[in-house]
Amino acid sequence: MTTTGLDSEIETRLSSHDARYTRGRRLVVATLSGSGGPRSAGELHAQIGSTMPLSSLYRSLAVLEESGVVVPHFTKSGVARYELAEWLQGHHHHLVCLDCGKVEDLSLPHSYEEKVRELVEEIGSTVSFTPVNHAFELEGLCSRCA
Ligand SMILES: [Zn+2]
Ligand SMILES: [Zn+2]
Repeated sequence: MTTTGLDSEIETRLSSHDARYTRGRRLVVATLSGSGGPRSAGELHAQIGSTMPLSSLYRSLAVLEESGVVVPHFTKSGVARYELAEWLQGHHHHLVCLDCGKVEDLSLPHSYEEKVRELVEEIGSTVSFTPVNHAFELEGLCSRCA
């Protein structure tokens, strides 16, 4: 999705929740859309800089989460990191570094994603469960920590 397309989708979604797409919220969305993975409020704040106080960053994240524009992602450390929801960003998975805690997006090539779907269907049928979606993450060491 182009940035303009993304912005108009988000603007529509926010207005259906009686919320405006303010400059601050646009800044959070733009930063998240170029981040390559879920980011915590602290990480976002470091990236955006002091132009946006941490308190308004938290408020923006709360409004965007309530409207379903961003979703929180939790690792075992308990830190909430935020990313654009899949309806905006597309289906993908995550790489979680067990050492530094960094989380990066992982988009699989179509052929791999097909294999994952087949496996998920197969697993579902063995436990009488109808899979609708799946989510997984690889835990390990990133290139800097390995
Ligand atoms: Zn690492
Ligand atoms: Zn992600």
